[in-house]
Amino acid sequence: MRGDDLKIPNRVKESIDTGIGAKHPVDMKTSEGLEPLCSEQGRGSAKYPCSMETSEKRMADPDCPDTPHWRRILIIADIEGSSRCINRNAAAFLTREWALACRGMSLDVAAVVNALFRAGVEEIRVKDFHRTAWNLFPGEIPAKARVIQGYRPGPVPGIGDPGGAEAVMFLGMHAASGTDGFLAHTLTSRISSIVVNGRLLSEVELFAASLAPYGVRPVFFSGCPVACRNAEEAVRGIQTFPFPKGAPPPDVSAWRKGLAEAAVAALSNLCTSPFQPPGPVHAAVTLRDGPDAARKAALRWGFHFEGGRILLRAQEMNQLYLQLIRLCYLTPAIEKILPWALPAYNLWGRLGCLWARRVSTRSEAPP
Ligand SMILES: [Zn+2]
Repeated sequence: MRGDDLKIPNRVKESIDTGIGAKHPVDMKTSEGLEPLCSEQGRGSAKYPCSMETSEKRMADPDCPDTPHWRRILIIADIEGSSRCINRNAAAFLTREWALACRGMSLDVAAVVNALFRAGVEEIRVKDFHRTAWNLFPGEIPAKARVIQGYRPGPVPGIGDPGGAEAVMFLGMHAASGTDGFLAHTLTSRISSIVVNGRLLSEVELFAASLAPYGVRPVFFSGCPVACRNAEEAVRGIQTFPFPKGAPPPDVSAWRKGLAEAAVAALSNLCTSPFQPPGPVHAAVTLRDGPDAARKAALRWGFHFEGGRILLRAQEMNQLYLQLIRLCYLTPAIEKILPWALPAYNLWGRLGCLWARRVSTRSEAPP
């Protein structure tokens, strides 16, 4: 994902500033809305933890009248952890490997979208979230889903409007900077590590936190095995499905079937809350280019700098995300022209995506 936009509407700013509470933009109805609804609280079995009222039930699975619980889903799709991303070139831009990876990513997403609709999900938004945010081929994805490409003006950084999403699923994700995962990075490969409260920070935490003010619960995650471990450690209760990177590659068709089944199973995942870890959040950012680069980047934004590390402090994970967007993608001058630069950037991405579709269609490589 590349950062783009800092136009956050007042209502979201307020909820970031004050934490999830009185100004929470989502009507949580009860205090239970912020707590996991899992079987720890005695609701149902481990396989089907849901025991909602009849009006909440959807008959997706004849064995379980309770599933699916979540009916409006946001999918955030990245490429590194998707099925045809085989090397660094495949996550780059305007390379043949990338074009093929785009088709693979699109088919992974399509498999999940098809399965979710079959399971009774009513509304799906898919947010393309890799590099230019123009990687998915919408023609491959059921038209009933809304595919959102390019970066949008707020309210959620990079995502825009999360709509009425109740739960978010992360597909094709990568591991955190500082881990040995496949193409591991957090926001940019220029960062060698971000340590937050003593632990390596992964993107799922930032993205999930940005959706927390809307009550969106992170329920499912797929990526390389290290990425899945990162997600499980950071987001309590999230369900994962790994793609085994490295040789020999798995049978991709069979893997996609498993991915889709795992995503459907996560529709009854009631074990997660909107992700808002307790603050304050202390982050130490180390850049690959060394202390001089870190010092320069820190001074640009007035961040603290100590021993080669940029030190950030925020009350909430959301605030840290905004600071990291500035640090990783922007300069004060670029931030000023962003309203004009963003459409040009989106056009560049759109043209690249058209090119990728043509190249991948001509290719004889397997999907
Ligand atoms: Zn990516």
